[in-house]
Amino acid sequence: MISVFDLFKIGIGPSSSHTVGPMQAAHHFVARLIEEGRISRVASLKVTLFGSLAWTGKGHGTDKAVILGLAGEVPETVDPDAAQRLVAAVETEGRMLLAGRQPICFDPAADILFDRKAPTPRHPNTLSFTALDEDAAVIAAERWCSVGGGFVVREDAPADLGAITAPVPYLFANAVELLCIGRDAGLSIAAIVRKNEFSLRDEALVLDHVDRVIATMMQAIERGMRTEGALPGSLRVRRRAHALRARLESDTGRNDLAPHEKMDWVSLYAIAVNEENAAGGRIVTAPTNGAAGVIPAVLRYYRESCPGATQEGMRDFLFTATAIGGLFKTNASISGAEVGCQGEVGVAASMAAAGLAAALGCTNAQIENAAEIAMEHHLGMTCDPVAGLVQIPCIERNAFGAIKAISAASLAARGDGSHLVSLDQVIATMRQTGADMNSKYKETSLGGLAANFIAC
Ligand code: SF4
Repeated sequence: MISVFDLFKIGIGPSSSHTVGPMQAAHHFVARLIEEGRISRVASLKVTLFGSLAWTGKGHGTDKAVILGLAGEVPETVDPDAAQRLVAAVETEGRMLLAGRQPICFDPAADILFDRKAPTPRHPNTLSFTALDEDAAVIAAERWCSVGGGFVVREDAPADLGAITAPVPYLFANAVELLCIGRDAGLSIAAIVRKNEFSLRDEALVLDHVDRVIATMMQAIERGMRTEGALPGSLRVRRRAHALRARLESDTGRNDLAPHEKMDWVSLYAIAVNEENAAGGRIVTAPTNGAAGVIPAVLRYYRESCPGATQEGMRDFLFTATAIGGLFKTNASISGAEVGCQGEVGVAASMAAAGLAAALGCTNAQIENAAEIAMEHHLGMTCDPVAGLVQIPCIERNAFGAIKAISAASLAARGDGSHLVSLDQVIATMRQTGADMNSKYKETSLGGLAANFIAC
């Protein structure tokens, strides 16, 4: 089972696989040194980024994330402003406190290597850590994989990609099984997920997490709409959520507003979150950082624009989205480096479509239909971030993922849930399409827009 705690993680931008995951991996590596009583012998450290982490790690801030993880920070609690100061100090001084306690020599320019040639047998997002003593003898060496959505796994560990193996009341491996459980037990998808979550953790704790996720998503929208200026990185992309909001607000009194202009608000919410993500701000990985704007935008649309919207409806939205995201994670992938952007914005749109359908009171069959429609029309979408930054096409792409999700939910709600292509078939198609996709289009910035856009 994939939990709501795993799919919706509060963290920082800009990338779940290239920022959050590597930070977690570095933190785990250091935690083990502490656990085994070896940290006091460490005098220096080498980190190597392989595959996609090497190709786009600079733009995605992987090197900075590794420094933070080594310093003992974790994505959920790290203060984005303090993090920038900490990284700058390490870069200037060539020294750091490992886990905040052990002084070591660490010059990021020399000690973080970007190896684009070595093979990555387990996953394209691989990184290694080597801790050395004063005589440069190896104290510990580990290789980790960042497998998407902030999930990490040791390269030599069994195939544990974040799923919880503890027994839960309603275990399902695919959408057919999920629908059967719902039919036999007379439960909605959200109720099935709630019962599973409550069997593992205290009910109040689960609901508190879901409410904090909702609040963090809404805060990211607000901050994104308030902030002006250029985003970090070589492209000097200007933030546009602030101006867009001002324009939309000044238009609210117009009598000739066309119905489609409502969608500009949805775009605004998604753009605001993804600008925050690109700036390294506080966001919710949902299910990845590159796709972090889709679910908040649709959730906000539900809250602001759907009659009868409630907090319970928002919770059901996220519980339902968890079930759908879990199916994609276990039966395909949510890693852009593995299957392209269909696994990030595509999955987020599918989760959001299902969530909105649930919040609107759709049946389980209609919800499955909504999730299927939303992914069907993201199949084949490549990952080609310009200059290795999670900005173009990522920010705007989230707006379109959100709009597609709303249309998918609405279309499904007008049907009776019966349809030809099943969600399971679409998930299998997504996995196969991703496997066939040329690696140029899988978070390497070697193809697509990244290869054709020339910045002046
Ligand atoms: S193109 Fe999609 S998958 Fe690639 S970095 Fe951007 S949001 Fe992530």
